[in-house]
Amino acid sequence: MRRYYIKTYGCQMNVADSARLKAVLESAGYQEIRESGFGDSDIRGLGEADLILVNTCVVRQNAEDRAAWFIQSLKGQKKQNPNLKIGLCGCMVPEPERNLKKQFPHVDFFIPPNSPDVLKQYLAQNTKSESRNPKQIRNSNLEIVSDLGFRASNFVTIMTGCDNYCSYCVVPYVRGRETSRPMDEILEEIKASRDQGGKEITLLGQNVNSYKPGFANLLIAIQQLVISHSSLVINFMTSHPKDMSDEIIATVAELPYVAKDFHLPLQSGDDEILKKMNRGYTIEYFLGRVAKIRSLMPEARISTDLMVGFPGETEVQFENSIKLLKTVSFTQVNMFAYSPRPQTAAAKMPGQLPEEVKQERLQKLIETNRLLLASS
Ligand code: SAH
Ligand code: SF4
Repeated sequence: MRRYYIKTYGCQMNVADSARLKAVLESAGYQEIRESGFGDSDIRGLGEADLILVNTCVVRQNAEDRAAWFIQSLKGQKKQNPNLKIGLCGCMVPEPERNLKKQFPHVDFFIPPNSPDVLKQYLAQNTKSESRNPKQIRNSNLEIVSDLGFRASNFVTIMTGCDNYCSYCVVPYVRGRETSRPMDEILEEIKASRDQGGKEITLLGQNVNSYKPGFANLLIAIQQLVISHSSLVINFMTSHPKDMSDEIIATVAELPYVAKDFHLPLQSGDDEILKKMNRGYTIEYFLGRVAKIRSLMPEARISTDLMVGFPGETEVQFENSIKLLKTVSFTQVNMFAYSPRPQTAAAKMPGQLPEEVKQERLQKLIETNRLLLASS
């Protein structure tokens, strides 16, 4: 039995991609060496691996640094076991300015995001397959459910890529143009998961509410699949505030099987900064969306992402984010210091703030949120 280890950095899209890579490996007869027991700095147990995949994230410099460090650390592993194959996957791969082969000469192959077929091809060319049941594989998106069996919260990707080009964000450059998956394919995947006893499904995409032909239509179409399975819960993430229409809010409110959970990343509490970020909404508009959600669903949970230290952010503009945090009772807040990313417009903007200022503001935001949660 051949064994593999997969390390995943970054967002849910990467977790979903890793699940599909795992499915490819398991249907080729590989067995997983589980995550538990070793973190970044403790890689005992990897000595048994025949194949190691590292699924990388480049959304912020520190995510990228951690992945790069881990990949470097595998050099020693390869010296001990010359038969070990190492694959570098995910968002680091498509970055055009990189020379990954030069930076990581010990890596054997590269897999861009959302590309399980590249792994299939590599295995077909480089290993003798011990396929258990190759007929099960109909298309790469179905493999998670058909080959791995039911998972507690099953990710169903409904769209890939992003066309929004927020000025700070590298995602459109590494994950490509926004593409909605055909509805019948999504429904088939949900059905397969349901039939295997799935209780919870998360519809996944960078911007699920801009799904074409309509996110509300998709939620309604799911109804026929869950009508006799009242225990199936449908989650969705991430929602872009600018695309959170009245129709979608009303549909979520009406459909009992859809969780009343909204992840609505605000990014900044200041209109001028939002404009520079190219977010496409104002604070007034965002607050209107929150009010609408809460008027129809008082029980709704609303979470957000906030970023501090965007180029040119003044002390007053930062305080506006603090104010917003205090105004809206978010259930959860992911907080980040702005990290300049190559290729993005914001990286070239004037007024880049020193790291100490960004970290200081981040700590202040985190502390404010901690106090708010403690008093709620
Ligand atoms: N599609 C989602 C978010 C994807 S990235 C959306 O539009 O909301 C996840 C989060 O990482 C973002 O919400 C943002 O807060 C943060 N992020 C993205 N680029 C960043 C950067 N360059 N520096 C710091 N944080 C960043
Ligand atoms: Fe990045 Fe903006 Fe697209 Fe989200 S919507 S992935 S932040 S470009």
